[in-house]
Amino acid sequence: MTASDKPLFGKLALIGIGLIGGSIARRARRDGLVGHIAISTRRAETLERARELDLGDSYCLDPAQAVKDADLVILCVPVGASGAVTEAIAGALKPGAIVSDVGSVKGDVVKQMQPFIPQGVHFVPAHPVAGTEQSGPDSGFADLFDERWCIVTPPEGTDAAAVDRLVGFWTALGSNVEVMEPERHDLVLAITSHIPHLIAYNIVGTAAHLEKVTASEVIKFSAGGFRDFTRIAASDPTMWRDVFLHNKDAVLEMLGRFIEDLFALQRSIRFGEGDKLYDLFTRTRAIRRSIVDVGQDTSAPDFGRGPTKR
Ligand code: NAP
Repeated sequence: MTASDKPLFGKLALIGIGLIGGSIARRARRDGLVGHIAISTRRAETLERARELDLGDSYCLDPAQAVKDADLVILCVPVGASGAVTEAIAGALKPGAIVSDVGSVKGDVVKQMQPFIPQGVHFVPAHPVAGTEQSGPDSGFADLFDERWCIVTPPEGTDAAAVDRLVGFWTALGSNVEVMEPERHDLVLAITSHIPHLIAYNIVGTAAHLEKVTASEVIKFSAGGFRDFTRIAASDPTMWRDVFLHNKDAVLEMLGRFIEDLFALQRSIRFGEGDKLYDLFTRTRAIRRSIVDVGQDTSAPDFGRGPTKR
């Protein structure tokens, strides 16, 4: 939208102002998407930092005060905190307001939040599939959501006009938007995001425990592939602890499939079944190409990093 267009919402309240909340604030402010941004967060030092960065128009520690008169409220907190935060703001929500979130898990978040949503307030959960391994208000940036997907997961019976308004907001933030059932979201994200993070945490943990290889050798020769896992394994521990605790069923189901396939690979290596390995590696290369083709990554070698500076 242009600066002369009417803002999409009068007042936006962001509860939680880390990577995701901070990125929404920067983009909404830059493009004039809302009339007023109220920011609330748990700790005084984070709130002060958000104020120094000039991310909003008003700041308060009490989330109930922040949501007063807000037309759109977005929870940007770890998924394990969604229920408690919704309970804290419920009594202050304006009739007709839209309450949303950005949690990486949807089924469990709907279960946590929905019981506290008052009659006449619209609940439209969402998950921007965009992020980095950084956290905190300094790590956000206005272009984070550009060309990335945002999955909106309205529970059955949600007001269609409220869903359309939230879809419009995420589109204005730069995202492509897809509407999906929460349970389907959780299965899809288990394999595309949660299991890859678990594998990264595990392989970096395994390397850290190896006694035959010294720690300095692991670091020195990390460009052989290990380095790419360490980026993912540097992701926020609170956020990822909550993802695994709250998307337990889907993660365990996908993990079972993954372990079966890993055993098959182990067998192929043990029995010298080179054709099987070659076929799989050819298929996986094609998947990489299709991700690049749809613009979800760069085709530049080594993710466009270039030579590592020392
Ligand atoms: P973040 O940078 O660590 O920021 C977290 C925010 O939540 C901070 O304002 C923090 O407050 C607040 N918070 C932490 N624990 C809390 C609690 N127990 N009660 C109330 N507030 C609490 O996190 P983020 O990366 O923006 O992630 C926020 C949400 O976005 C998560 O649900 C995550 O699943 C989802 N998400 C993350 C990514 C990603 O790549 N990071 C991508 C998509 C979606 P204080 O600093 O004041 O303590």
